[in-house]
Parts: sequence; C-alpha cells; structure tokens
Amino acid sequence: KGIQVAIDGPASAGKSTVAKKIANRFQYIYCDTGAMYRTVTLKAMQQGVALDDPEALAEMLKHTAITFKPGDPEQLVFLDGNDVTAAIRQEDVTNNVSTTAAQGTVRADLTNRQREIADAGGIVMDGRDIGTTVLPDAQVKIFLVASVEERAQRRFKDNAEKGIHTPIDVLRHEIEVRDHKDSTRAISPLTQAADAVKLDTTSLSIDDVVDKISAIIDQ
Ligand code: C5P
Repeated sequence: KGIQVAIDGPASAGKSTVAKKIANRFQYIYCDTGAMYRTVTLKAMQQGVALDDPEALAEMLKHTAITFKPGDPEQLVFLDGNDVTAAIRQEDVTNNVSTTAAQGTVRADLTNRQREIADAGGIVMDGRDIGTTVLPDAQVKIFLVASVEERAQRRFKDNAEKGIHTPIDVLRHEIEVRDHKDSTRAISPLTQAADAVKLDTTSLSIDDVVDKISAIIDQ
C-alpha cells in the first residue's frame, strides 16, 4: 500500500518540486511540511502573535486548521478554509518562518499533524526533519543539497516568473541566513539522517533527480 519517502535538505534545493513529482509517479500522498510552518507563521503575523512566544503560538494552534488540496503545478494550501497558497510564499513570511519553526510547541503540534497525514498510506514528505524526527522509520530517506549559488539562481528564476525581481545576492544572503537558523536551532535542527542518501542536485535536472530517487524507491 505504499512506503514512506522522506526528503530533507536546505532551502531551495528543489525538494517540493521533486517530492511532488515522485508522489505523482507512485500515486502517493504528498505533504509539504514547509508549507505548514509557513502557514502558522502567516497566521501569527496576521494576528499579531509574537513568533517567538511558544505559549501564544500553542494557543493559536488549538484553533488553526491547515489543509491541502491537489493543484497544478502547485498543491493548494488552506488556512482555516482560506486559500493561502500564494500568501505563504511572500518574502516576509519566508524571512520570518525560521523563528516560528524554532519553537518547541509549534514543532510538536505540526509533527503530530504530519504523522497523522503519513498514517493514511504511501507518502512523500519533504522538509528539514522528516528523516530524523517526523518519520524516523521511513524506508527511503533522501538528503537533497545544491550549491548556494545554484539555489539562489533557481529562486531568482522562480521569482522572475512571478514578476518579483529581488537581486540574486540578496536571495543568496536570505538563503544562507535561513539555513543557518534552521541548522542551529535547539529542536530538530536541519541535519542529514544517518541512513539518508545524499543527492547533490547542483548540475542535475529535475527529471534526473526524480529518476534517481525513483530508482531507490523501486529497489
Ligand atoms: O521548505 P520551506 O522552504 O518552505 O520551509 C520553510 C521553513 O519552514 C524552513 O526554512 C524551516 O524554518 C521550516 N521547516 C522546518 N521543518 C520542516 C519544514 C520546514 O523547520 N520539516
């Protein structure tokens, strides 16, 4: 009925694009855990809840619904019934999300939700702590990396398609700051699981990466 595939790695390494294609190929559920942390951050910013106040965030989460709906090319994300797919990708959310994600109450709550989603059957889940914390028994664990230059360029191209023109060196700096925060937080920091396969995607196409991971799943 399907296995668990955990895909972790630093910002803009191509995790969601690849994870979604693999889920389609194997008819598995796709869960973008980064979208969940982004959604919590968006709601807290909208409601004036401090992003570094674990108790206030826990209280807010008690009445917060985060749901996904299939969509092309992007999965749709809903916060309390409202479509926030575009809003959670805004630059202010991107640059604040690591603060929210460092709070233990937030991680505990979202980890529970992610495990519930995974209980439904075959799953591809991408994030920072899936192989280490959320799904430690996942049969396939991938750690996707790419040079920071390449990741900044990919983000620059994605942005251009949306009419956003943030300079590439600003993007590179934002990626480095976010990776540093995510790697140095106390709880479930970004790190490669001991049993994960590391894939450097710097000079690989999306389809190359999907094929390599598919071959590992088929083994
Ligand atoms: O994957 P994405 O870039 O959308 O993730 C946004 C942020 O959410 C990350 O920078 C990180 O702070 C947080 N995150 C996390 N654990 C995950 C997924 C994302 O802490 N499993």
